[in-house]
Amino acid sequence: MAKSVGIIGAGASGLFSAILSAKAGLRVEIYEQNAKPAKKILVSGNGRCNISNTHLSSNDYFSENPSFVNYALESFGFQEFEKFTQELGLLLTTLEDGRAYPLSNEAKSVAKIFEEYARNLGVVFHNECKITDIKEFMQKYDSVIVATGSRAGSHLGGNSDGEEFALLFGHTIIPAYPSLVQLELDSKIAHKMSGAKINAEVTLLINAQKEQSCSGDILFTAYGVSGFAILDLSQMASQALCNYQAVDISINLLPHFTMQKLAQHIAKVAQQMPAFTLLDILVGLLPSKIASGVLESLDIAPNSKGSAIHTKLTKKIANQLCNWRFEVSDTHGFRHAEVSGGGIDTTEIDEKTMMSRKRKNLYFTGEVLDIVGRRGGYNFAFAWASAFVAVESIKKELFIH
Ligand SMILES: Cc1cc2nc3c(=O)[nH]c(=O)nc-3n(C[C@H](O)[C@H](O)[C@H](O)COP(=O)(O)OP(=O)(O)OC[C@H]3O[C@@H](n4cnc5c(N)ncnc54)[C@H](O)[C@@H]3O)c2cc1C
Repeated sequence: MAKSVGIIGAGASGLFSAILSAKAGLRVEIYEQNAKPAKKILVSGNGRCNISNTHLSSNDYFSENPSFVNYALESFGFQEFEKFTQELGLLLTTLEDGRAYPLSNEAKSVAKIFEEYARNLGVVFHNECKITDIKEFMQKYDSVIVATGSRAGSHLGGNSDGEEFALLFGHTIIPAYPSLVQLELDSKIAHKMSGAKINAEVTLLINAQKEQSCSGDILFTAYGVSGFAILDLSQMASQALCNYQAVDISINLLPHFTMQKLAQHIAKVAQQMPAFTLLDILVGLLPSKIASGVLESLDIAPNSKGSAIHTKLTKKIANQLCNWRFEVSDTHGFRHAEVSGGGIDTTEIDEKTMMSRKRKNLYFTGEVLDIVGRRGGYNFAFAWASAFVAVESIKKELFIH
């Protein structure tokens, strides 16, 4: 009888492990607590699935042990992954910055093709089946892969089950924190701008020291801020918040102007259009909700006439437009996070096999490990690569050639 593999979690790394194991001739059963596999693949990349990246290196990952990813990414990098998807007829398209997407531009093609292929290979799916007893589960299979992901996105199946399984075998857990997540602000004004979006530059300050700047969309919300520029800063912000450090952001609403240019512009419009209010002047530069917010934050009445403006006030407004500070009170939490930092300590996992150093034939792949990538397809890239390494090892351990 064929040797068997039991996989817990039919997300990205579990599904991919199932396919590779079944291709190798193993008997594969995969268990998923949700009614359907691949929930996170389906919602990924705003429904488009940023499936990988052409430039993969350990610099794109955060971990207590970032070099852990090297062996997996060298063994199964972008080229190997693309070759695999091409064989299935799932073509990819890549952007200039290296991000890769399915050519269909739909995440559901990825989920559908992977699931269909796994079924064709004979993989047995047990949906709506949550594994709770890992020790009992291990007795049923020659090898077990724990691919339960992280706590991020609890409505999609995110939980800490994998960490709890690992603890039972004496593994150490690096405390988890939400990442690629929106930030909550301690501000009486931010929520009034809810729904307003701007392409701006945002700088993260930790204990008042500038740490990182990102450019891109910023969306004001009822709780604080969202958007790509915020998600990109959130990894560092979230870690700092966990360490009880003071976290602030400074938003440059108009990064293509210098402060001096802005002050000159405001003074010029005020002079040319004496009947304009200060709000009218700022609405020429910014979405109106944000313009109102800027004036309110400076205690300036929006209907103040531009003609009454003086140099000191002009400079004050220009300064706020370029350097608007907000205190970050928290992240928006695991439920809303795309990924989670922390997880199983990778020094206790063999990076060349993904096997536990504490329990033979027990493998951990994907986000359950203390590996988190930045935005850009890096998280899926590690899910695929770690699954590949685990299955290669299972083949060797079970003498499958
Ligand atoms: C909204 C959103 C958008 C994202 N977009 C991107 C993107 O475009 N590009 C990118 O690279 N990454 C993206 N990510 C991150 C990416 O989805 C994850 O990093 C990746 O899915 C991790 O794969 P995994 O297999 O480790 O875990 P998951 O894909 O989370 O799979 C784990 C599975 O295990 C199941 N499970 C958990 N516990 C049990 C149990 N006890 N028994 C049975 N089943 C269990 C879960 O239900 C889940 O289906 C996004 C994440 C979210 C939430």
